[in-house]
Amino acid sequence: MILTAGKLAILGKWLLTRQATSAAIDITNRCNLRCIHCYWWKEGHSKELNDSEMVALMKGLRARGLRAAILYGGEPTLRPVVCRAASKIFDATLAFTNGTNGFPQLENGQWILSLDGPEDVNDRIRGRGVYALAVENLLKAPRPPIVHITICRLNQSRIDDFVKEMMALPIKGIGFSFYTPHQRSDDSEFFIPLEERDRVVKHLLELRSIYGEKIGFTPAMARQFLTYRDFTKWNSFSACPVSKRVRCFRSDGKPKECTYGGSADCSRCGCTAVAAYRGAFKPLDYKTLRLIMGLMVPECQVSRVDP
Ligand code: SF4
Ligand code: SF4
Repeated sequence: MILTAGKLAILGKWLLTRQATSAAIDITNRCNLRCIHCYWWKEGHSKELNDSEMVALMKGLRARGLRAAILYGGEPTLRPVVCRAASKIFDATLAFTNGTNGFPQLENGQWILSLDGPEDVNDRIRGRGVYALAVENLLKAPRPPIVHITICRLNQSRIDDFVKEMMALPIKGIGFSFYTPHQRSDDSEFFIPLEERDRVVKHLLELRSIYGEKIGFTPAMARQFLTYRDFTKWNSFSACPVSKRVRCFRSDGKPKECTYGGSADCSRCGCTAVAAYRGAFKPLDYKTLRLIMGLMVPECQVSRVDP
């Protein structure tokens, strides 16, 4: 695994300091889909910085010591110039995509493909034909993407089918978040009540025991979500590592509290990035650290079974 000096510096900061390390940027306010569970298009949109303004923002963030970037939208592939620039400016870049526009080459960045289940479930949530198109593009991707699923009420009973399908494809691994509701909105169609979610969390560990570390969910990450373990140690804005380690920005370059938006309900959060960060470092956990290094090093491939 190739860990450059820049990537080692990020890990060192996580390990040894309390400083912010990462920028999460909505690089566009546009998307070609209207997924039914998406918070993004239900909120009002800020304007979008043009390419040179966005690149200047990113260079400024890097100059302030933020070495890692996560690109969100809208749909980041609608701005390939910005994606490519980010992967050169930052020491580690993750870029989320719906997969419908292909996977542009990123020199030093990792694509994360969002799908929501097997074809029928995915397309019910994301729109007809989206699954087939995303998989067609995945097969042509220059490097295997990581697939990410947000587990919600609509897909929780189909996780096994989805994982089995994904394991037959050339992917680097699968990540799992849980649907995070917003305050004061009725999200009962999507949100899995926390006690019920505990059972799904434990089931993800069973899948890991079957498929190995391509299932990007470790016992230490599970501990972060379990209501009777560590969940209450971080499920508020002030306690969540996002408030200290990550600076989040809207597409107009203005700051926002969290990638999920300002009205996300921290008390019911399902963010896997938080689980991975806390799982890796609180306390130090080798399996979760490997998972994080796999995210940071695009060329690194993941073995099928746990080492
Ligand atoms: S692709 Fe992403 S940003 Fe676009 S509607 Fe779906 S969840 Fe929202
Ligand atoms: S919604 Fe989740 S990730 Fe965002 S600040 Fe709250 S606890 Fe952290």
